[in-house]
Amino acid sequence: MCETCRDLLNEALNLALRSEQFEEQERRLSTLAASLDPDAWEESGQFARYVDRHNVVYPHAKIAPASATMHLWVQDQYDKDLASWTQRARAHMMQCRPFNSPPES
Ligand SMILES: [Zn+2]
Repeated sequence: MCETCRDLLNEALNLALRSEQFEEQERRLSTLAASLDPDAWEESGQFARYVDRHNVVYPHAKIAPASATMHLWVQDQYDKDLASWTQRARAHMMQCRPFNSPPES
């Protein structure tokens, strides 16, 4: 793997992590929104226990344990970074030597 490939892969993992954080916040909001009394559920501490249990059962689809405001500019920056990464990754894959060389026989 060339150095640029390694950098691109590293960047992709960071993008995946950021995307996961958005999804965890989304799940927190939609789970609370489905409740009859979201404030009471949170204040009683029962929601926190629900989240703990949920995250053990669904480790690949976690709910954020604390709420964080997802500012629009954060999402916008993520979209820009993802578009930039996609473009650079495509361009590099076309010309990366190790990537395009035939397998050794
Ligand atoms: Zn490469």
